[in-house]
Amino acid sequence: MKPNRPTVLIANRGEIAIRIARTCKLLGFPTVAVYSEADQSSEHVFMCDQAYCLGGILPKDSYLNISSILDIAKKSKAKLIHPGYGFLSERADFIEACQKANLIFIGPSAKCVALMGNKVAARMAMDQLKIARVPGSHGTLSGVKEAKLLAKEIGYPVLLKAKAGGGGKGMRQVESEKFLESSFEAASREAEKSFGDSDLYLEKLILSPHHVEVQVFGDGKGGGIHLGERECSIQRRHQKILEETPSPVLELFPKTREKLFEAALKIIKNIKYQSAGTLEFIVDEKGNFYFLEMNTRLQVEHPVTEWVTGVDLVEWQLLQAIGELQLPEIPPRTGHSIEVRLYAEDPESFLPAPGSIGFIEFASGPFVRVDSAFKSPTEVSMYYDPMIAKISVWGATREKALARLRVSLDEIRVEPLKNSQGHKIGSLKTNLFLLQKLVRNKKVLKGDTPTDLIAKEPELKQIFTKDVTLEAALAVSLYQLIEENVSLHEGTVNLATEIYWTKQSKTEGLRS
Ligand code: ADP
Ligand code: ADP
Ligand code: MG
Repeated sequence: MKPNRPTVLIANRGEIAIRIARTCKLLGFPTVAVYSEADQSSEHVFMCDQAYCLGGILPKDSYLNISSILDIAKKSKAKLIHPGYGFLSERADFIEACQKANLIFIGPSAKCVALMGNKVAARMAMDQLKIARVPGSHGTLSGVKEAKLLAKEIGYPVLLKAKAGGGGKGMRQVESEKFLESSFEAASREAEKSFGDSDLYLEKLILSPHHVEVQVFGDGKGGGIHLGERECSIQRRHQKILEETPSPVLELFPKTREKLFEAALKIIKNIKYQSAGTLEFIVDEKGNFYFLEMNTRLQVEHPVTEWVTGVDLVEWQLLQAIGELQLPEIPPRTGHSIEVRLYAEDPESFLPAPGSIGFIEFASGPFVRVDSAFKSPTEVSMYYDPMIAKISVWGATREKALARLRVSLDEIRVEPLKNSQGHKIGSLKTNLFLLQKLVRNKKVLKGDTPTDLIAKEPELKQIFTKDVTLEAALAVSLYQLIEENVSLHEGTVNLATEIYWTKQSKTEGLRS
């Protein structure tokens, strides 16, 4: 172990906090965990050398509470802050606050984050760099009138998107002019609630596209490298559930792959990007590509890149932060890697279905990696992201990686808590069965996986009945209130929880 490494405060929870702590340990960086009142006995708390409560349960009182995090950094003598993903990872004001407090934020500059976090400004930057972005508005939409004119010009269907959007939120697909006004209002309301910013922009909806992204690492001085691509087209609710590298669609368009790498490097060199980042692109059926957005942080699906390159991205981030990283040449990539996200969610409605886990056992074996904060019977909290685990595998070929993933997914057991009569307690559901179906699906086996695969494939399609849809709508509203940090009276939260759970058991009743 190397002595005198500075202390790292990990401003996150769950699997990503654990993943960061592991590399800190490996390199001899002492660690500080922070946790909310709901997370007192969470796994990440025990992984770190010190742990402090941030107060509160809701994200705004805990993992988004900048002053509390900075106080703890001072108390624990931390010098570096790793934000993980989500929460404060893409907040320019947090990066500035860290600098003011003499702390090193592990990631890009506040300037880069501010530029790319504003998706409209990022699109404008692409125009300047002459990098194709999805056709649509140049700036922010001034109102419904402008949206109507523009949509008519580029042709329906279109997508209304939030300038400050992320995590698949604040997006509305509009099929024809008839629905534009109501969708505009709904999208700006949702954007205001989720991001405190109601500004919208408009894009042409690319039909049956592929999501292909490039992992980059910048030196902050105008240099940088890429670490290959990832295809993350298999999604529901505009959020990824299976990611892989190399990208199957780029096997058909090898020239597009090179052009994507070129574009990604041009962007990060131009903005003097530092640390790990991801350039997301949409690739259409002909191999044309368009810039979507940049994520200025470590990405959920970074393990697949680590599998094929042998690079520990967090190691690079940590060493760069203390001035000890010599960025190498582009590393060679070997074999194929696939990751799936196991969620506590209803596999039919794709709505979060958190609850108590009574039994949990993951897969293991050669070339299998499980990133999870759930190792023993515990609770998946309704207050945070309901992801239970990421299961990633490596294989010499795509076929071998898929075969290994099939075996691994069949080994996994996640069971809800049961009473002495063997009846389920609470509302836990998982998407395990959907993942097992996915890795056996004919189109997935062929690598023919556009973003609308789940919606279109009969065997994977959601099965809605009218009653369940109503129940689902209620559950979504309650979940969103909590997710959007609306200050709720404790009694209201309890009531919301109760209705939410009743809904879960009722939904089950309706189906059986
Ligand atoms: P990735 O490509 O890394 O999966 P996602 O867009 O799915 O990126 O986001 C990763 C995590 O960050 C998710 O937990 C998501 O909910 C969260 N997230 C991303 N952007 C935002 C945002 N602007 N506000 C709140 N959460 C976000
Ligand atoms: P977020 O910030 O929420 O991740 P993105 O702009 O990255 O938002 O889009 C998320 C997903 O939505 C994409 O991966 C893609 O599947 C879909 N999507 C976004 N824009 C378009 C578009 N113009 N046409 C088709 N699909 C799109
Ligand atoms: Mg995205």
